[in-house]
Amino acid sequence: MIDVLVVGGGNAALCAALMAREAGASVLLLEASPKEWRGGNSQHTRNLRCMHDAPQDVLIDAYPEEEYWQDLLKVTGGLTDEHLARLVIRASSNCRDWMRSHGVHFQPPLSGALHVARTNAFFMGGGKALVNAYFRSAERLGVQIRYDTPVASVELDGDRFVAVRTEAGERIEAKSCVLASGGFESNREWLREAWGQNERGEWPADNFLIRGTRFNQGVLLKYMIAAGADSIGDPSQGHMVAIDARAPLYDGGICTRIDCVSLGVVVNREAQRFYDEGEDFWPKRYAIWGRLVAQQPGQIAWSIIDQKAVGRFMPPVFTGTQANSLGELARKIGLDEATFVRTVQDYNAACRVGRFDHTAPFYAYPVRPGITFTYLGLKVDETAAVRFGGRPSPNLCVAGEMMAGNVLGKGYTAGVGMSIGTAFGRIAGTQAARAAKTTSKNSPETALAAAH
Ligand SMILES: Cc1cc2nc3c(=O)[nH]c(=O)nc-3n(C[C@H](O)[C@H](O)[C@H](O)COP(=O)(O)OP(=O)(O)OC[C@H]3O[C@@H](n4cnc5c(N)ncnc54)[C@H](O)[C@@H]3O)c2cc1C
Repeated sequence: MIDVLVVGGGNAALCAALMAREAGASVLLLEASPKEWRGGNSQHTRNLRCMHDAPQDVLIDAYPEEEYWQDLLKVTGGLTDEHLARLVIRASSNCRDWMRSHGVHFQPPLSGALHVARTNAFFMGGGKALVNAYFRSAERLGVQIRYDTPVASVELDGDRFVAVRTEAGERIEAKSCVLASGGFESNREWLREAWGQNERGEWPADNFLIRGTRFNQGVLLKYMIAAGADSIGDPSQGHMVAIDARAPLYDGGICTRIDCVSLGVVVNREAQRFYDEGEDFWPKRYAIWGRLVAQQPGQIAWSIIDQKAVGRFMPPVFTGTQANSLGELARKIGLDEATFVRTVQDYNAACRVGRFDHTAPFYAYPVRPGITFTYLGLKVDETAAVRFGGRPSPNLCVAGEMMAGNVLGKGYTAGVGMSIGTAFGRIAGTQAARAAKTTSKNSPETALAAAH
């Protein structure tokens, strides 16, 4: 029988598989996607938020634990577990040497990227290179990997893991298991249920685009909650940004983000503004715009800029609709011309004393809510064990998006998704290897319990 079974093939799963293998366990990793789509949302990432007390290779100055914690506290509005959050923060200060040992390379941010040279370490080649490096390292170390293998259910004996059953009906036993199969952001039905119907009779989630993988259907999250695992978080909470409405339904990645919001105005389908675009400098509050657009009629809006903004933000992958007058722009994007012109004129009249000279041509980018990942997850403590009525499972752990809600009740600060997945993936792998060893020597019940 295999020692450690890992379900998922993103950052958290790979960290768990590598740690378990390094601890001497035999490891089998089951990834739902075909090989060419492996890596889940992690393949779309760019960076990791890292605590450091002094300049460190690609990181400038210092980003101490307390500042990181305060940043997290602020964005979550206190909906975070301080003990687990600090564990993630501290782990982010010393994981990069281990990451490098498995082939991950870092680089400073490119110019025009987020202003995060102090707080975030960027992966050379992005998340795709990171997952490729981890898969290579895992293969070299003898981790068995199976693609096209979505897991449908988990067989439990009380709170003890016994086996998984794949969608194809195969039963796979192991001594211990790590679940790292993401949130439910790709499951449009579940998103619909979580977001419900609004006062206009619309189902807002029908107009969401999924920024990452199509494989995070939340099958095991749903299964485990129904099986009595303790859960945490609100299903309607998650990370959501405004992305180009022309982006594909899945896997548009970062190049579909519209970064010019704070350089112009944003109007809804009724040609009205609905939030202070300049509240904070981009990208500080960029993550609020997905939710804001989700609240608008038809879940659509347009980010409008003039010629002067061109070149001051990362160019979107699709070109904007261009026009030489505001009226022409309104006609081209199908908004009421008079209302739109009045909205822009009122804004310009209010934003500074005297005359404001906007410069043609004008550009409009249509935006829709782009969901990154959901926060409903399984409740954990510092051992990453899945819990049933407060009791930790002796041999079943969880990592990554599937438990990120313990640290992220709401809100987001760039790079913390990978910090959580790396910290808990590594813990889960270590614990699962330990549980497998204990299971071999003793009765299964003593396995993870020994680690508590
Ligand atoms: C466009 C984009 C950009 C992002 N940029 C950043 C960034 O720069 N920094 C950052 O910190 N975070 C970023 N994030 C968030 C980040 O991707 C996640 O926080 C992180 O990757 C989660 O890792 P994970 O391993 O839990 O999930 P994933 O990487 O999504 O892995 C989950 C895996 O589980 C597999 N799976 C799902 N269901 C099953 C099943 N039933 N059976 C078997 N396998 C299954 C999936 O195929 C997938 O491989 C970004 C996300 C997106 C979408």
